[in-house]
Amino acid sequence: MISNTIEDIKGFLSDNSIKPSIQRVKIYQFLLNNKIHPTADEIYNRLNAELITLSKTTVYNTLHLFVDKGVVQPIHIEGNEVRYDADFSQHAHFKCNGCGMVYDLHLNLNIQNISELKNFEVKDIQVLMSGLCDRCSNINPIH
Ligand SMILES: [Zn+2]
Ligand SMILES: [Zn+2]
Repeated sequence: MISNTIEDIKGFLSDNSIKPSIQRVKIYQFLLNNKIHPTADEIYNRLNAELITLSKTTVYNTLHLFVDKGVVQPIHIEGNEVRYDADFSQHAHFKCNGCGMVYDLHLNLNIQNISELKNFEVKDIQVLMSGLCDRCSNINPIH
């Protein structure tokens, strides 16, 4: 993971062959600062007050570019909705059905031990759990 300063993000984007325009830097910074796995619309809604020239198309194009260059991970939680995650290390997600929050889980999956995958070439792993997070299960205890 990189630090969230403008200078570091600029360097990081340049290192990944992405021209670091201020809008791209701000979108990446938003993803680093808000680990809420936002959709493109959420990013647009949160940034457009600050970046008045930002358009929805720019947000979509920027996210596609980030995914293309491998600096952002697209995640699919529900239906066709794509959420974005600047943490591109392998990790799992937990979606809370109470508050809608998507949590990161640093689960160590030892796929070498899965016999069914013996001669398979695994390129991507998506693990999604759902239920109630600790805060929500205190409000609505399941009995
Ligand atoms: Zn919750
Ligand atoms: Zn995540």
